[in-house]
Amino acid sequence: MSSKTTPIKIRPEVLAVPGYKQGQAPANLGYKLSSNENPYPPLRVVLDAIADRTDFNRYTAADVTKLRENIAATENERQLCRQSTAAARGGNPLRAVAALQQLKPLSAANVHVLGAGSVAILYQLIGATCGPANNYVYPWPSFEAYPLLGTVPGATGKPVPLTAAGRHDLTAMAAAVDDATGAVLLCSPNNPTGPTITAAEFKDFMQRVPHDVMVVLDEAYAEFVTDAAAVDGVSLLHNYPNLVVLRTFAKAQGLAGLRLGYGFAAPEIWAAVSPAAIPMSVNALSEAAALAALSDEGQREITARVATLVQRRAELVRGLTQLGLTVPAAQGNFVWIPAAQLAAAPGAGGEVDPPTAYAAQLAAQGILVRPFAGHGVRISVAEAESIPAVLAATATYLGQESV
Ligand SMILES: *Cc1c(COP(=O)(O)O)cnc(C)c1O
Repeated sequence: MSSKTTPIKIRPEVLAVPGYKQGQAPANLGYKLSSNENPYPPLRVVLDAIADRTDFNRYTAADVTKLRENIAATENERQLCRQSTAAARGGNPLRAVAALQQLKPLSAANVHVLGAGSVAILYQLIGATCGPANNYVYPWPSFEAYPLLGTVPGATGKPVPLTAAGRHDLTAMAAAVDDATGAVLLCSPNNPTGPTITAAEFKDFMQRVPHDVMVVLDEAYAEFVTDAAAVDGVSLLHNYPNLVVLRTFAKAQGLAGLRLGYGFAAPEIWAAVSPAAIPMSVNALSEAAALAALSDEGQREITARVATLVQRRAELVRGLTQLGLTVPAAQGNFVWIPAAQLAAAPGAGGEVDPPTAYAAQLAAQGILVRPFAGHGVRISVAEAESIPAVLAATATYLGQESV
């Protein structure tokens, strides 16, 4: 039962759960590596676009058509590049041409954009598919908003533990789907552990899930993926009418504070779930910023920044490995240290949860990371200097000479 007291009547199921908790910043904050934010300041083109937009006495057009068109066009280009690269790698020009001909371009009708981020689209989608009689299946640990999504609709969350390697247990997830399941959430790369779902695993999973159950593939970190075997949701959209792919401007594009998420799905899905969204939730500032981020100049700079972050990710993984830690494949802008890896430290053991103890020790040095009690610690890849700082603090925690 909850100890919350209120002056009004509140539904007990709402009182019973704590709200989403954001990490607290220590007073001596040196590096904030706790929310997978982009360490770079906003792009010049973005700042200029925001400064240029002044018509805030007006509502922006609710359907944000231009933004949806640009998102669709950008994604079509990305798919073309992806297919050409794959075809070139295969070395068979006939197959390459066939693959390109099979590409079905997206239109604005395939795209949905919502303010308050892709997390708002998650709420919309669960609200539209799940009522009190329904459940939704999700991996755990994963994005910390997932368990909360069912609270207001009264739907039951069914968390399915990850494998020991921090990957989705897709066999168990398929088995968890029953007649009452309204939705399945998949996260690739998985936040907080890092591995992607492979295309082969995904296709196999989709065959085992009833075709009228919505499957949401949350690709918040898609831009950071370097593993060619990873699933690419949009390329499969036309194969699976029950698939919804979610993306965000918060991570690679560095617009977390402006709150803008988007998704790809069949137009019929977006039309059907539209009553479950807050009307006109995209604000004019984030619309202007997103259009600028999608410009040629914006994209060029973002691509370069992502490449740098991917290099730093490799540095962090290498450093942690040299300290004797085994970490799962890191495919987002973050690296995961499993709890068991931290439990071996000389000071560990007893009452204190190792991820909590490790995070507290780093926080004392001004480095903020995100502990998941009992599971592990997630460290965001950020400023260049944050990497040696994390490695030195980790060496100290492990009782090793600093590297
Ligand atoms: C950060 C994150 C989101 C939310 O992004 P917003 O667009 O900022 O709401 C969604 N899913 C996952 C897995 C994330 O890590």
